[in-house]
Amino acid sequence: MQDPVRLRLHNTESRVLEEVFPSDGKAVRMYTCGPTVYNFAHIGNFRTYVFEDLLRRSIKFFGMKVHQVMNLTDIDDKTLKGAIEGGIPLDVYTEPYKKAFFEDLQALGLEPADAYPEATKYIPAMIKLIQTLIEKGVAYHGQDRSVYFAIRKFPSYGRLSHLHLDELQVGASQRIADEYDKENAADFVLWKSYDPERDGEIYWESPFGRGRPGWHIECSAMAIELLGPSIDIHAGGVDNIFPHHENEIAQSECCTSQRFARIWAHSEHLLVDHKKMSKSAGNFYTLRDLLNRGYTGRQVRFALLSTHYRSQLNFTFASLQAAASSLERLDDFIARLEGIQNDKGQPQAEILLHDAHQKFSAALADDLNISPALGTLFDLVRSVNTLCDENRISKLEAEKILQFLKNIDTVLGVLFTREEEEIPIELQEMLVKRNEARAEKNWPLADECRQLIYEHGYVIEDSPTGSRLKKLAKS
Ligand SMILES: [Zn+2]
Repeated sequence: MQDPVRLRLHNTESRVLEEVFPSDGKAVRMYTCGPTVYNFAHIGNFRTYVFEDLLRRSIKFFGMKVHQVMNLTDIDDKTLKGAIEGGIPLDVYTEPYKKAFFEDLQALGLEPADAYPEATKYIPAMIKLIQTLIEKGVAYHGQDRSVYFAIRKFPSYGRLSHLHLDELQVGASQRIADEYDKENAADFVLWKSYDPERDGEIYWESPFGRGRPGWHIECSAMAIELLGPSIDIHAGGVDNIFPHHENEIAQSECCTSQRFARIWAHSEHLLVDHKKMSKSAGNFYTLRDLLNRGYTGRQVRFALLSTHYRSQLNFTFASLQAAASSLERLDDFIARLEGIQNDKGQPQAEILLHDAHQKFSAALADDLNISPALGTLFDLVRSVNTLCDENRISKLEAEKILQFLKNIDTVLGVLFTREEEEIPIELQEMLVKRNEARAEKNWPLADECRQLIYEHGYVIEDSPTGSRLKKLAKS
């Protein structure tokens, strides 16, 4: 018997591919760093979330259960600044961005995580961790009354980012030469003491005085509370590796004396027109910017999905157009299969499907290698289209191919998620009217309907199984 294909993922820490499995024998426990809710998330953020969604879906594709937690950072410098400048409570300030984030996830077809903890709801857990760190002598009170983590007390500090402690200390002390609150310039804050001028009325009480948690401790606390002291996968973007994830490891492992995460997975940067995305360069896009230009969440998802997560993704409007036309080819293919009525058998399709399944699974199992996985799909489309041209695909086989597509779409999430509702309802009604007119052989009325539909930017495609509206390409 053939060995089952097993999912392997590149571990940033060990720098090799490692097998994904649930170490508790039940579900793969995965923590994914979520958005800071001070603004709308941009497409660079969504690249990471789409990668994490692909990972989540792939774990399930390979027969495992997954339990994913994604935090919402609602306490940090940016959310506090926004609330204070707006003169409103913190939760009132962050609420619309939280809502927008969930709308965006839905537009991109991201499966919901199992929990979305908010930092403001986990302050006691953070305080508990900080207390433990003080008791163990790895955290100390700085001159400004903030609490800091002493990185020299954690000898393996730097093991994720492969940086050495002495390099870090030199680098950090050069950057912040005038910082005197900490014992060591590379130490990081666990609890930031309250400053009425900076923080307005936003603070929490703690055994170490009024203040608020540092960003890094937020993730450690929520991960440990919801997933336990030792998790299977921790994921994020490459810019999280240092210092955020490095600091998460240090504080978590000092508290629990257990390995915090077995596999660290990071997605590469997204560039726009080969340049770093920034507001000042005029190449900064939120998902909403793209939707307002008439693109769909499904097209953006496909564009973000189709580059391997560990390669830089160069986003351009040409790449978005290419994604749109790839999806159109796939839609046409599905519509064609659904319309097949031929009952002649043909063993060739079975062989093609078996081969496609093997290649798709093998590519996905190899660190989510999406390019060959999609290549397999488009090869199948080409071969089956040729067989269809020759009338050599039976209805039964077409159903098997559709079944295969539905199976791989549990991972891709783009094949059977066409935005039918995007077609205006009056045009859909017009189509029904036109079909009725045709059935009654009322050709002038049928033509009139067709013309009206055309004037609204759609054409009618008739097939043996019925007719559908297709949007005309924008010129
Ligand atoms: Zn985090």
